[in-house]
Amino acid sequence: MSTDCLFCKIANKEIPAKLVYEDELAVAFEDIKPVAPVHILVIPRKHISTIDDISSKDTEVIGHLFQIARKIARTKGLSERGYRLTINCKADAGQLVFHIHLHLLGGRKFTWPPG
Ligand code: AMP
Ligand code: ZN
Repeated sequence: MSTDCLFCKIANKEIPAKLVYEDELAVAFEDIKPVAPVHILVIPRKHISTIDDISSKDTEVIGHLFQIARKIARTKGLSERGYRLTINCKADAGQLVFHIHLHLLGGRKFTWPPG
């Protein structure tokens, strides 16, 4: 837990969010400024600032985030048409919140390459 981290506070329910899933390792909630009909953030409870900070000990929890995203995508009816999973790392990628989060985006078509 990082005391001044927004997403640690959401994971600890100190700041409200629309939770869609939680377990002992991770939490998923709706993005406050959605950019797609489905826009959910999946985060580890453990504070890890960026993808550049993950250690070999974090392998299980990082894999777990993808399993959660896949299950939520299924419950939201996205599995057949597809969806996008994104993790922004640091400034060039536009990372704004420095607690790793997997964006689950779906319900519309996305372009490639991203802007
Ligand atoms: P990133 O640019 O990858 O760091 O994305 C940060 C995301 O967090 C953005 O999509 C924001 O809309 C979202 N966000 C920021 N504050 C909150 C909040 N309090 N609850 C839910 N989502 C948030
Ligand atoms: Zn944090």
